[in-house]
Amino acid sequence: MIEHTLWINNQWTASANPGWHEITDPASGRVIGRVPAGDTADVATAVAAARDAFESWQWTPAATRADLLHTAAQRLRGTAESAGETLTLETGRLQVRNRLYIEWAAQFFDYYAELARNEIGRIPPSAEPDAQVNLVLKVPYGVVGCIVPFNYPVLLLAWKLAPALAAGNTAVIKPAPQTPLATLELMEAAFSHFPPGVINVVTGGADVGAALVAHPNVDVIAFTGSVPTGQAIMRHAADGLKPVHLELGGNDPAIVCADADFDKAVRAVAWGGYLNGGQVCTSIERVYVERPIYDRFCAALAAFSKQLVYGAGSDPETQVTPLISAAARERVHALVSEAVAGGAQLLCGGTIPERPGFFYPPTVLRDCTHALRLMREETFGPVMGVMPFDSFDEALALANDSEFALAGSIFTFDARRVRRFYAEVAGGTLWVNDPIVDNPAAPFGGMKRSGIGRELGPEGLEAFRQTKHVHWDFEMREKSWWF
Ligand code: NAD
Repeated sequence: MIEHTLWINNQWTASANPGWHEITDPASGRVIGRVPAGDTADVATAVAAARDAFESWQWTPAATRADLLHTAAQRLRGTAESAGETLTLETGRLQVRNRLYIEWAAQFFDYYAELARNEIGRIPPSAEPDAQVNLVLKVPYGVVGCIVPFNYPVLLLAWKLAPALAAGNTAVIKPAPQTPLATLELMEAAFSHFPPGVINVVTGGADVGAALVAHPNVDVIAFTGSVPTGQAIMRHAADGLKPVHLELGGNDPAIVCADADFDKAVRAVAWGGYLNGGQVCTSIERVYVERPIYDRFCAALAAFSKQLVYGAGSDPETQVTPLISAAARERVHALVSEAVAGGAQLLCGGTIPERPGFFYPPTVLRDCTHALRLMREETFGPVMGVMPFDSFDEALALANDSEFALAGSIFTFDARRVRRFYAEVAGGTLWVNDPIVDNPAAPFGGMKRSGIGRELGPEGLEAFRQTKHVHWDFEMREKSWWF
C-alpha cells in the first residue's frame, strides 16, 4: 500500500482534511494506495508557499534556473524504473511505456532549461528619432495552478511544470484523483532540490481544483482534461480575469486512402486507436477508408485487433491495457451498444470480459454514421468506428464534421492529398503516415472545442510569460505635444 501526504515547501505535509482518497489498480481492481482527500485550506497553504517562493524565484538568474531544471531531468531519468512501476500500478499502462514517459518528461525539463535562458524579450526600433529605447520584456505571471488529468500524470505535468518554472513562475499542482501517486513520489525523488515552495502538490477532486482556480494568488491556470471541466474552469477563472490554457478532449479522425501501404496502415491505425487502452486525447476514434479498400481494411483491422493481447501493464506480453475505472468502461460499452443498435456492424470486441480489473477488448465497428454518439463524442476507450468514403472531398468533410479538432491522421503517399489534408482539416496536430508522435520543440493543442492555447515548443514557454513594454528616453527632450 503506497501512501503519501501533500507536498508543500519541500516537505510532506498533512492535509487539513482527515479523509483519504483510495487509489485503485485498474488491472486488478485492488486498492493499492491512498492520498489525502484534500481541502480548500490545503490550497491556501500551498498557494502561500508558492507565492513566497516566487518573490526570489522570479529574480533567480535564468542560468541558475536552467541548472536546476537540468538536474530535475537527470533525477527523473534516475527514477524511471521505480516511478514507472508506480505509474503502471495507478494507470494500468504498460511498464515499458511508463519508463519511456518518464524519460520523455525529462526531455521537457532539458528543453525548457535551454529555451528559457536564450532571451527575455526583444528591442523593437524606436518610433521617435530621439535617443530612446523600447524594450519588450517577458516576465513570469507568479503562481501557476497546474491541473492534470488521469491518463498521463507525469508527462502532462512536465509539459506545464518545465516551461512554467523555466519562465520564473512557481507552481501548485493538482493531480487527478485516480493517479496522484507517481507525481507525489517524484516530488522527493526528482524535484526536492528546487527552493522550498517553488513546486507544491495538493491532492483532491473537483472541489480542490476549483479552489485552486478561484484562489486570488493563483495567476494563471494550466489545465488538461475534459471539455466540461475546461468550461467550468474558464467560467471560474473569469472572476479573477485569469489566463487559462485548456488542453481538452478530442474525437480524432484518420483517413486511409487506397494508395496507402495497406498492412502498415492497419497496424498504425490499431496503434493510434488502442494505445493506453484508447485513453489518449489524440487517440484515433473515427476511421474513414476509401471505398475500393474498405471491406478489406475493415476485415484486416478486425483480424489484427482480435489477436492483440490485452492485460496488465506489468505483463511484458500485454499490448492493450485496461481502462481507468469501472465507470469509464461502462461509458465506453454504452457507446458501443448504442452504435450497434443504431446500425453499425460489430466486427470484434464489444463485450465486457469476465475477469478482475477494468478491461475492455479492442473493438471495431464498421458502417458507422455520424448520427451515432460514438462518432460525435470522445469515446476514450479502445474502440474505432469505421466508415467508407468515395471522394477525397467527402473524406475531408467527414474529418471536419466534429466539434473537436485536436489532431488527425492521414495515410497516403499522394502529396496533393496531403497538402489538402493539412490545409483544410482543423486540428492542432496533423500526422501523415505516423500517428501520435509529438516533439518537445513543436507545439501541441486543440482547435474548436479541443482547447485554447498551445503546450510544447516556444509557444509552450510563452504561455507562462506575460509582456511588458518599456519606453525609455535617455535625454528627456521636451516633446512638442506636451501641454
Ligand atoms: P477531467 O476533466 O475529469 O479531470 C481533469 C482534472 O481536473 C482532474 O485533476 C480533476 O480532479 C480536475 N477537476 C475536475 N473538476 C474540476 C473543477 N471544477 N475545477 C478544477 N479542476 C477540476 O479529465 P480526466 O477524466 O482526468 O481526463 C480525461 C480527459 O482529458 C479527456 O477528455 C481527454 O481527452 C483529456 N485530455 C486532453 C489532453 C490534451 O492535451 N488535449 C491530454 C490528455 C487528456
